[in-house]
Amino acid sequence: MKPIIVANWKCNPTTSAEAKRLFSSVKKGLKNYKKADVVICPPFVYLSCLSTGIKLGAQNCFYEEKGAFTGEVSSQMLKNLDCQYVIIGHSERRGIFKETDEMINKKVSVVIKVGIKPILCIGETKEEKGKIAVVFKRQIKSALKGISKSKISNSGICIAYEPIWAIGSGQACGIDEAMSAKLLIQKILISFLGKPIANKISILYGGSVNSKNAKDFIDGAGMNGLLIGGASLNPKEFIKIVRGLT
Ligand code: PEP
Repeated sequence: MKPIIVANWKCNPTTSAEAKRLFSSVKKGLKNYKKADVVICPPFVYLSCLSTGIKLGAQNCFYEEKGAFTGEVSSQMLKNLDCQYVIIGHSERRGIFKETDEMINKKVSVVIKVGIKPILCIGETKEEKGKIAVVFKRQIKSALKGISKSKISNSGICIAYEPIWAIGSGQACGIDEAMSAKLLIQKILISFLGKPIANKISILYGGSVNSKNAKDFIDGAGMNGLLIGGASLNPKEFIKIVRGLT
């Protein structure tokens, strides 16, 4: 399985000219590089102006397909823009925008229905550090509630483990901690879905990844990929991360 490297640009950059420049620098730097699956998740407004060559993802979507929902973007619209992935339940959405487990469940469900791969973010706060088993179980179980095993099996869903205290802090999770978190997530997935389906789900790490620690999360912690925020806005650093993995 190739590692999946997802760039989360968050609410950056502020102009489409900058977005195009960043995208083409990354595209150029990763030309002919086939050892990882790279996915760029820009803000919605740039999705249609970034040329193909690298897979595109979105950072969020609404759970209804269309209708009177001012300001929202549906999974069907994303599908129409050739988005192959969508990040669901990022801690900034859960925290700042008050997304609940129930909303996240509806989003995962609709994204799978339209045929986009969800990247489901889970992770604990600093205060929850000692109880990750309870937190992960709740987040995974509620996100997958009511979705059939066969749908999950064919969905290409990924789980991104993002300890909230590590995001944007410059303080990445320790490699041993990440390895334990991965094994725990796998155990929970096996108990909910059985081994064959659980084994199809890639588990990514996110939180202050940079070119110095990236390889350790893949080789040391056994992660199947990375979700990268801040460092993905610096093309040189992002290319260094991806090319440094293999
Ligand atoms: C993120 O926002 O998903 C993230 C991992 O951010 P950063 O890499 O900046 O910690």
